[in-house]
Amino acid sequence: MAENKPTEQPPLRRISGSRIFIFILGLLFLVFLLSRNTSEKEITWAAFEKDMLQEHAVAKVEVTNGELAEIYIKPELLKNDKYKDVSKNFMGGVNPGPHYYLMIGSVESFEHKLELAQANFDEKDKISVVYAKKSNWWINALSWLLPLALLWFFYSFMFRRMGATGGKGFGLFDFAKSNPVVYEKEKSVPVTFKDVAGYDEAKTEIMEIVEFLKHPDHFTKLGAKIPKGILLVGAPGTGKTLLAKAVAGEAGVPFFSLGGSEFIEMFVGVGASRMRDLFDQAKAKAPSIIFIDEIDTIGRVRSRALSMQANEERDSTLNQLLAEMDGFDPNTGVILLAATNRPDILDPALLRPGRFDRHIHLELPNKKERLAIFKVHLAPLLLDKSVDAENLAAQTPGFSGADIASVCNEAALIAARKNKTSVDGKDFSDAIDRIVAGLEKKTRIISPNEKKVIACHEAGHAVVSWMLEHADALQKVSIIPRGKSLGSTWYLPEERQIVTRSQFIDQLCSALGGRTAEELVFHETSSGAIDDLEKVTKQAYMMVVNLGMSDKVGEISYYDSTGMYESLLTKPYSESTAQLIDEEVRKLVNEVHERTKEVLVKNREKLDQLAQLLLEKEVVDKTDLERILGKREWADKKVSSETASA
Ligand code: ADP
Repeated sequence: MAENKPTEQPPLRRISGSRIFIFILGLLFLVFLLSRNTSEKEITWAAFEKDMLQEHAVAKVEVTNGELAEIYIKPELLKNDKYKDVSKNFMGGVNPGPHYYLMIGSVESFEHKLELAQANFDEKDKISVVYAKKSNWWINALSWLLPLALLWFFYSFMFRRMGATGGKGFGLFDFAKSNPVVYEKEKSVPVTFKDVAGYDEAKTEIMEIVEFLKHPDHFTKLGAKIPKGILLVGAPGTGKTLLAKAVAGEAGVPFFSLGGSEFIEMFVGVGASRMRDLFDQAKAKAPSIIFIDEIDTIGRVRSRALSMQANEERDSTLNQLLAEMDGFDPNTGVILLAATNRPDILDPALLRPGRFDRHIHLELPNKKERLAIFKVHLAPLLLDKSVDAENLAAQTPGFSGADIASVCNEAALIAARKNKTSVDGKDFSDAIDRIVAGLEKKTRIISPNEKKVIACHEAGHAVVSWMLEHADALQKVSIIPRGKSLGSTWYLPEERQIVTRSQFIDQLCSALGGRTAEELVFHETSSGAIDDLEKVTKQAYMMVVNLGMSDKVGEISYYDSTGMYESLLTKPYSESTAQLIDEEVRKLVNEVHERTKEVLVKNREKLDQLAQLLLEKEVVDKTDLERILGKREWADKKVSSETASA
């Protein structure tokens, strides 16, 4: 979908500090070069005495800082060949001197030696010694510039880090400002409800907001108050941001968008000040929409249980948000939209009437909605006739809108990589596979023996899920490594809202199918089943602890919808209950394991056949599965459409 580029406020033109610093350094270096007499040469006392002093070539000697004698040759003698090395400065002009230098032990001994050397000179020929104290100014300059520069670098680094999420510039206090992405009215958000496929109910509900933003008097003259805050609830990628943008697009008002995490900084008080600033900006442009993504980062319930964590910053940000929400008149025309996928952990104060009292739930799209979303994202692509949107929607259960958008893009990329003139059905199924199970890694080196184990493992999953009524419908099996996994089985899970105990058990059996098959065939288990075991263990604990699916633990759930116990180190049940839970989980997993083994022993021949076919073909599809395993009795009952990898 074509999205407009946000019109971010133009950054002020500042000359960056680092440029100034480099400029000053460059200048210093240049002055140093110009001032340095590069042609000055060191000589020995003997050479000085014999070749210069005795020949009356010296104009003057300057003793600098009591340690260096600098010698000036008489200008008229500089033309002499002897002095050609020192007669010119590095730019080619006449070198005014000093021309030579020599290190002296002490001023007294130098004076003494000089006096002796000139003992027989006429008084007028005797050279004069001048004393000078010179400070090396550029070293001095560097000695105060360097610490200054270091200090400045430190500050700029700190503030740049803070400014990265907040203020844009280099200003010392910019970081306390909020820096939302603003979609302006004129270049108005080009996203409208047309771009949001499906979600008709959510759209109808949110339409009211658009109406208010467009015609506020219509409501206010009857004394009605418009909700200030609307919470969009849904899994990541379900189009919450898109819907919020569409509201702004439909109403043609400015849209201020900021992520919840952008309020949380390492300095206390920054979050609150950013929040204040955000509301100020939005009020200045009212009617307008503020959108805060991932509000749970700031809106988590304030609880004593969490007080061990440093959460004052979050609390103060949340308090500021509450104060801002209460502070403005509902008819100001500022509407706050916020998105979260965990409304359960939000602070009740946020959800109170007058604040975020409206919730709009965006579920993962069903088949019809997926079809609509596919249509939106297929529109800009150059498609081959083999692409069937219906079929794509059927193959992508559990996909969010964002996943669908990325399938379409991925398919186009695959087609482009293969230099095709249009995107065809195969590109789409490759794209779906890639999104579900990761990229194929055909180059991964797998030994023939390992391949046998993998084939047996995948065949085990396949046979068990094929034979059990409540396991998901199997689509294909592959032993091509993808992403982290070495093989995969593809299912079309049912779209269901509740899961029964027998369905859970069958799913657990098919998850254990791989490892149990290895056990049966090779009389040994391998490390390849770690993901399966993790899944089984977690699921079994969930059934016992949360879903009350064990007789001994009974109808008790320790599920914590508020997330308040998440950070507690202790469990909400006693030691003896913990023991009971462990026992029950173990019993359940053992029961599942036995059942899986039974299925595999009964179908051992089919298991071997399928493993063999997998070794030959690497990918076995439904036709071959049916040929080997027979028609699946209950397959036709569930013509629904879900895909998952195991
Ligand atoms: P969220 O904010 O819920 O994480 P986004 O709104 O950022 O999700 O959605 C990400 C992308 O997914 C959108 O830019 C859009 O391309 C696509 N998308 C999601 N839902 C839909 C939908 N209903 N119709 C069209 N595209 C959608």
